[in-house]
Amino acid sequence: MRVLLTGGSGFIAAHTLDVLLKHGHSVVTTVRTQEKANKIKEAYPDTPKDKLDFALVEDIAQPGAFDKAVISEPPFEAVLHTASPFHFNVTDVQKQLLDPAIIGTTGILKSIKASAPSVKRVVITSSFAAIVDGPKGLRPGYTYSEADWNPITHEEALKDPSSGYRGSKTFAEKAAWEFVEKEKPNFTITTMNPPLVLGPIVHYLNSLDALNTSNQRIRDVTLGKFKEEIPETGVFLWVDVRDLALAHVKAAEQEDAANKRFFVVADYFSNKGIVEAVRKNFPEYKDQLPGPDVPGGTRPEEIYKFDNSQSKSILGLQFRSFDEAITDTVKSLKAVGA
Ligand code: NDP
Repeated sequence: MRVLLTGGSGFIAAHTLDVLLKHGHSVVTTVRTQEKANKIKEAYPDTPKDKLDFALVEDIAQPGAFDKAVISEPPFEAVLHTASPFHFNVTDVQKQLLDPAIIGTTGILKSIKASAPSVKRVVITSSFAAIVDGPKGLRPGYTYSEADWNPITHEEALKDPSSGYRGSKTFAEKAAWEFVEKEKPNFTITTMNPPLVLGPIVHYLNSLDALNTSNQRIRDVTLGKFKEEIPETGVFLWVDVRDLALAHVKAAEQEDAANKRFFVVADYFSNKGIVEAVRKNFPEYKDQLPGPDVPGGTRPEEIYKFDNSQSKSILGLQFRSFDEAITDTVKSLKAVGA
């Protein structure tokens, strides 16, 4: 397949690119700067331009941002849209989180409909944030699945950056499904709804200071930041980035994944669990780690359940273990100086 992958410099996209190339697909990935394109290219020195190429899209919040990127020769058959801001370092929730997420998503769908009629499948990286009903708390006895939608309102999303992020994912995904319903384009969409994504970083794009948001807690463990008190976990479900990357690619490859959301979840986790996995596998960090009696970071015993059966039955996913994810992430952090 000829595939357009947005946000190729991102944590999840870097692994998705890897899977796409391993599956023999030909990929154009969008990045914000030529410098980022060069770094990705350097990681694939033997991959020819017809297998891996780049398009510059500086800001997905600009109307028409993808108008040029969706046009290619040979034409695209699939689009994987992962680009969206995932950080909490914002002063203007509307401009920095909501606009790029929502306009970025509707923008690429409009561009595909207008200029890329060969595209049959679009996979969009949404989130558990678009599923979970935060104010309902731990909801013991309740089972979250693809049937659930976060009921957050625009006004609530504007309250603070973390509500803003959850709103950005919810509104962007809703806008995508509405677009398909109203515009009846020539393509189908599939959304990926992962919870916290952990796993190795790719060395060519990262440093310890500029680390993707979801891995920061693992870095913080190795830097000794949890030594006195382990922070509360906040989110209790996780998935390995490599399994999520495979899910994106399978969703583009498989017809039976069309028109579906996928709640791609491996299992529960806790910050204390990260500490214990590092303790078990990396004795060299023992002075950075909290003692076994340091409080905090545990997972509540009474908590919602999750239904990941569709990801297993349709996409055939087999989820990596937490131990493997933490071990490989720490090794990758060591490679950039942890
Ligand atoms: P990253 O921050 O590593 O990647 C985000 C990507 O989006 C980067 O390539 C970034 O480019 C690009 N991007 C952000 N804003 C803009 C913009 N205005 N214009 C152009 N490009 C932009 O995060 P992840 O890989 O973790 O996230 C990827 C997707 O997965 C997001 O949609 C996120 O919401 C979703 N997700 C992530 C989870 C996680 O735990 N990691 C959990 C659930 C969903 P640049 O680096 O150049 O700024």
